[in-house]
Formats: sequence, structure tokens, C-alpha cells
Amino acid sequence: MKTEFLQADDANIEKCAEYLRRGDIVAFPTETVYGLGASALDPKAAEKIFRAKGRPATNPLIIHVADKAQIETVAVVDDRSRKLIDALMPGPLTLVMPKKEVVPSIVTAGFDTVAVRMPDHPVALALISAAGVPVCAPSANTSSRPSPTMAQHVYDDLCGKIPVILDGGRCPLGLESTIISMTENPPRVMRAGSVDVSAIEAVIGPVNKESVMIDSLSSLKKPTHFVPKADLVFSAYYDGMFDEIADYCDRMARSHGRRPVIFCTDGNAGRYGDRPVMKMGATVSEYAQSLFEKIREAEKENYDLIIAEGVPLGGLGMTLMSRLMKLSNGNVI
Ligand code: AMP
Ligand code: MG
Repeated sequence: MKTEFLQADDANIEKCAEYLRRGDIVAFPTETVYGLGASALDPKAAEKIFRAKGRPATNPLIIHVADKAQIETVAVVDDRSRKLIDALMPGPLTLVMPKKEVVPSIVTAGFDTVAVRMPDHPVALALISAAGVPVCAPSANTSSRPSPTMAQHVYDDLCGKIPVILDGGRCPLGLESTIISMTENPPRVMRAGSVDVSAIEAVIGPVNKESVMIDSLSSLKKPTHFVPKADLVFSAYYDGMFDEIADYCDRMARSHGRRPVIFCTDGNAGRYGDRPVMKMGATVSEYAQSLFEKIREAEKENYDLIIAEGVPLGGLGMTLMSRLMKLSNGNVI
């Protein structure tokens, strides 16, 4: 299959909407990462997603909608969910709610719940709206690869396996959505993501966030966790972290013949002498935003070991650390 690479202008968005309407799959940008979309009401189309990604059928897809009213066509929305929808959508928040009959079971991997979000990205919204159907979409990477934050990443993974990539530039957030299960009491954070949990709690009160780190670890047992080509290890955040990272880097290079690179925030780059570093930005949110992109860059530069600085757990820090946990297979130095 030839993979078309299209700039996201009006004509090409309409062309891709037509692909979706006729049961084909389309890679498209959102504010989090690139998605690989299909009509959420068409089981044959959804199946193409699983095939192209090599995604296990047990891993459900998130349904993307173009407006808030469309959420009610696929999910049963209670008052608490409605408050979150009003306050935080469009945005990088996914709600898991009871599903409606129209949603085929392949999309929800047989669950009686459905995950829904409204992306805050003009191209994604225009595409879904033009398609006229809700669009189920996981990240547009090969399963077990880091999520794609640029159209080129999608091409690198899925060239020849999908008909079209809609190029809308770099994804502004670069990390996936926060997923919260609304069918539990209190609601439970299933995946830390780009929406800070405190923003959710400000709307509906306390939520259960205790399982976030544990779930990151337990997901390692599933075949769906990320496997970068380079090995990744990360540090917990503490005072002695810099020396420990530097020592580890030297040991791996000298005694194990590795080509390590240190991922660090800009302000810490000077702490590692002449060891190779990649600067991840000035803040935790810039670090989070560039993580997946920099992993792919490090692999291209033939580093075979990424040593990532840890960050404090507040706010997006928890999201970033849970991703590092998955990427590293739990390998903390
Ligand atoms: P992604 O791989 O980024 O598309 O995210 C999909 C994730 O959303 C899955 O791995 C689940 O953790 C979660 N999810 C999607 N649908 C459901 C559902 N019906 N019930 C529970 N979790 C879901
Ligand atoms: Mg994914």
C-alpha cells in the first residue's frame, strides 16, 4: 500500500474525511499525539487500526468527537461527567463512561464502557466534523513504539501500512490524554496525562489517583508497553541524582561499551561535563512535550542507552515519571 502524505489544508481534510466515511483509516494530528482514526461506528474500519498497529484486540480505542453533543451519541453521560465535559473539553482529557449500543464491541475491546475525548486541535476537529461520525483512534505508532508527535514519526512506523497521513505539524502537548474512569466512585485516574489531576479535582472533588504509578508498573506485563530501540533508564528525583547519573553514564560507556546519552532539563546540562546530553527544555512541561520526539532522535543518532533525569512528582511531573517508568520497563538507577 502506498502511504500518501498530505498537508492539512481544507481540501485535504475533506479528502481524509471521505476516507473515514468509506471505512478507511487516516493518521491525523491532535494536541496530544498523532492518532490513527477510523469511523467509530464501523467495526471493519476499526479492525484495520488494530492490524496496522499490531495492537492487541484486548486494548480498547478512544473515541474522538468534534463537539460535546456527539459524546452523548456514544456514551451515557452522568452529571459528574457533564461537569468535566463543560469545564475541560475540548482538551487532553478522556472520560471512560458506560457505552451506548451503537459502539461496536471491537472498539471497546468487549468492555461495556467507552472512552471518549474531544481534542483541542483545529485539524482534528475539522476532520471529525467533516467525517460526520465519531472517530476511534489510538496513537498512530506501531504498538510498542513511542507515541508519534510529528507526521514523520507516523511515516517512520506505518509507511506502507496505512493509506494516508494528514500532516498538521508538531503536536503541541506531545503526551497522551489523562484517562479517568467515571464508572467508579470516586472516579479513578487510569492514566496520568496532559491534564493535571488537580484541574479535574477542582471540578468534581477528590479522585482516586493512587493507582497511577502502580498501573504504570503493572502495564509492563502487558505486551502493549513502549519499547524504545535504545534502552532507557531513569533516575528518581533527589539531591544526589546528578552525580549518580554521571557515574552510571561513565560506567556504561567504559565497562559495557554502551553509547549513552543523558536527557536533562536545560538548566542541568552543565552538570554532566562533556558527557553527551540532550536538552529536554527548561521546564517539566517542555520535558514532557519533547520526550517521545527526543527518544526517536536519540535512536537516529545511534545512542543505545538513554539515561533520563527524574523530576519532582507534582503536576505534570507525575505524568512524565509514569511514562519514564513504562519506557524504561521499570529500570530505575
Ligand atoms: P491510547 O493507546 O492512547 O489510544 O489509549 C487507549 C487507552 O484508553 C487504553 O489502553 C485503555 O487504558 C483506555 N481505555 C480505552 N477505552 C476504554 C474502556 N472502554 N474502558 C477502560 N479503559 C479504556
Ligand atoms: Mg498508544
